[in-house]
Amino acid sequence: MRTDLVEIEKRRVWHPFTQMRDWCAPEHEPLFLEEGRGEMLRSSDGRWFIDGNSSIWTNIHGHNHPRINEAIRAQLERVAHTSFLGFTHEAAARLAERLCRLWPGGRLTRVFYSDDGSTAIECAIKMTAQYWQQTPGGEGRTVFAAFDQAYHGDTAGASSLGGIGRFHDRFGMIHFPVRRLAAVEELEALPESEASRLAAVVIEPLVQGAAGIRLWPSGMLARLRAWCDRTGALLIADEVMTGFGRTGTMFACEQEGVTPDFVALAKGLTGGYLPLAATLTTERVFEAFLGSFEEGRTFYYGHSYSGSQLGCAAALASLGVFDEEKTLERLGPKIALLRELLTAACGKSPWLGGFRQCGFIAGIDIVRDKGSGGRFPAALQAGARVCVAARERGLLTRPIGDTVILMPPLCISEERLAQAVEAVVYGAEAAAGRLAD
Ligand SMILES: *Cc1c(COP(=O)(O)O)cnc(C)c1O
Repeated sequence: MRTDLVEIEKRRVWHPFTQMRDWCAPEHEPLFLEEGRGEMLRSSDGRWFIDGNSSIWTNIHGHNHPRINEAIRAQLERVAHTSFLGFTHEAAARLAERLCRLWPGGRLTRVFYSDDGSTAIECAIKMTAQYWQQTPGGEGRTVFAAFDQAYHGDTAGASSLGGIGRFHDRFGMIHFPVRRLAAVEELEALPESEASRLAAVVIEPLVQGAAGIRLWPSGMLARLRAWCDRTGALLIADEVMTGFGRTGTMFACEQEGVTPDFVALAKGLTGGYLPLAATLTTERVFEAFLGSFEEGRTFYYGHSYSGSQLGCAAALASLGVFDEEKTLERLGPKIALLRELLTAACGKSPWLGGFRQCGFIAGIDIVRDKGSGGRFPAALQAGARVCVAARERGLLTRPIGDTVILMPPLCISEERLAQAVEAVVYGAEAAAGRLAD
C-alpha cells in the first residue's frame, strides 16, 4: 500500500477491539483489503486469502455473490434509503414474512428492524422491560438473567448482559444489574421469590462465540425453554452469530426444538453485505403494546436507518441463495470434513491442544505444553501471532485469546477448507514454535 495512505490511516483511524499503539507502530503493516470473490479476499499487495472468519462472522455465501450484488444494485437504482418511521417499503414487508416463516410453529409473528447485533439485543431488552410494565401482574419482573462469559454486543444495555470481564467490567457503572448464571441448573434451583422477578433469560443458543467457542451441554436449551415456560420468564435467543446456517441448521434453536420469545438476528442476515438487524417476537408480546395513543403503550425506540432498504434487499437475496444453492444440504459434508481435518491437525501438531466445533464454527486452542494443556502467558498473545503467521499460507482470521477461530463462509470449497486448516497448523508451528524456543 502507498506509504502516504498508510501514514494517513495510522494518524486518523481508531479501530475496534484494537490496541492502537501496536497498530500504529512503525513495524506494523496494516492489511488493506480491496476485493472479495467467494470465500477469498485480496489485499492491496495482490495476495489472496481465505476469509477464515467470514469477515468477523458475517459472510455466508461468499463475497461478490452475483445474486446479492444484483439485488443491492437494483434497489440502489430505485432508492437507497427512506425512513421507516411512519413509512414502509416492499423489501421490509417481504423480508419480515420470510423471517417469520423460517421459524416452525408460527409462534414468532413480528419483526422489528434495527442496525446490528447490539441494537437487536438492545431492542429485545427494552421490549421485554416495557412488556412486563404493561402486563397486569408483571410489574415485579425487572431482573434479566444472563450467562457467564456471554457476549451480546457493546451498547450499554447489551453489554450489561455480557459476562466477559475484559470487555464488560470496566463499564459496570453504566450497566443495569443482571442475575449472572453459570448453568441452567442454577435457574432450576432458584426459589420462587427470585424466579418470579425475572423478566427474561438471555442466551447464545448452542454455542457462546466471543467466549472462545464455548459449547453448551446438549439438551440445555430445551431445559431452559421448559424452565421459562414453567416460571413465566421470557426467553431471548441471541442468534446474531449462530443464525443463517452457521451451526448446520438455519437457526441454532431448531436443534433443540425451541422457539424463544425473542430472537436477535444480525451478522449473517444480509449474507454479510450490509448492516441490518431484526428482532423477532411473539404476538403475545406485540399485543401488549397495542392501545390508544394516550395509553402510552407505543414502543418508543428506533434508529435513523431502521429497516434499511438496501439491507432488506440484500437479506432477501441471501435467503434466496439458501434455496437456489441448497446451502444447508451442501454444508453437512463440509461440517464433517472440518471435524476430520481438525482432529487430524490437533493429532499431529504439538501446538494445537484441541478444538471445539459447533456446525461450521470452530475454535482451536493454542497450547505451550500439550501434555498438561498449559497455555502461553497471555501477554505473549500467542493466538494473535499464530493468526498473523497463518497469513503466509493464505488464511485470514482473528483469535479470541489463544483460541484461533475458523468459521469460513458456508460456500467454501473442500480444498480451501483443507488449506485453511493447514494454514492454522503452519501458523502454530511458525509462531508458537518460535515463542516456545
Ligand atoms: C457479534 C455479536 C453481537 C453483537 O453484534 P454487533 O453487530 O457486533 O453489534 C451480539 N451477540 C452475539 C452472539 C454476537 O456474536
